[in-house]
Amino acid sequence: MWLRTFKAREYGMGKLDGRVVVVTGAARGQGEQEARLFAAEGAKVVLTDVLDEQGEALAKEIGEDRARYVHLDVTSEADWTEAVAAAKDAFGPVTGLVNNAGILRFNELVSTPLAEFQAIVQVNQVGCFLGIRTLAPEIEAAGGGTIVNTASYTALTGMAGVGAYAATKHAVLGLTRVAAVELAAKGIRVNAVCPGAVDTPMSRPEGVERSAVDELYRKLVPLGRVGEPEEVAALALFLSCDDSSYITGQPFVIDGGWLAGVSLF
Ligand code: NAD
Repeated sequence: MWLRTFKAREYGMGKLDGRVVVVTGAARGQGEQEARLFAAEGAKVVLTDVLDEQGEALAKEIGEDRARYVHLDVTSEADWTEAVAAAKDAFGPVTGLVNNAGILRFNELVSTPLAEFQAIVQVNQVGCFLGIRTLAPEIEAAGGGTIVNTASYTALTGMAGVGAYAATKHAVLGLTRVAAVELAAKGIRVNAVCPGAVDTPMSRPEGVERSAVDELYRKLVPLGRVGEPEEVAALALFLSCDDSSYITGQPFVIDGGWLAGVSLF
């Protein structure tokens, strides 16, 4: 099984040596593990979120030499501009972005208030767009790099009760493909991770036991368990380093086989 915490490499070359990567929604969940793993692989990581206390504490734990926390509400153009300035000030030119911040709300489409639909679009879709628009010129100026967008299993199929969320995640794939085509000549690769169910505060709110989650996914998912945020971080690392040097514009499903089909047994 995966270690819950990635330790910094003590020797050898990291897969992200020399890179400066901005991760959104990095205070907890998948973003936290991406920040930990990227730092362990040699990157300087700029952790951003709206959960300032958690983000600050995590950056401190990773270490000042490898990580900084900057407040960034992904829906705010001004925050993006300030965060990039702070990132460059701390570590120099930015060469990578992980658009990870996201929110989920449960509602049937016919019961979804417009304000709720729009709030989800703002964070998941507009936030991803602003990240690409703000960082792509910086990454190009730095000589090229990578963008990883966080879509979802629900970017590729429907799921009752999460219509607004699924719509935004489909849109994230559209943004990923267009950005990949537009930015390839500028030395920037753009891909998307599409996680199924991953054990984070989003999928298991406080008070819900892990055993209840395990029970549900034992039936739904061929591999018989919920995913771990460290597993998504490992995929984001692959898409951010040279191991994926000939890959751009693609969705990468990481779902324990959920999307492969249903079982009658
Ligand atoms: P999470 O709720 O633990 O983390 C999401 C982070 O985004 C939080 O730290 C939150 O504060 C931050 N955030 C929310 N709104 C923000 C804003 N306006 N600006 C900046 N940061 C903001 O959930 P997670 O599971 O780690 O989610 C990470 C990404 O993975 C999301 O895009 C989510 O949609 C996606 N995803 C999660 C799952 C899952 O099962 N957990 C499955 C598929 C996709």
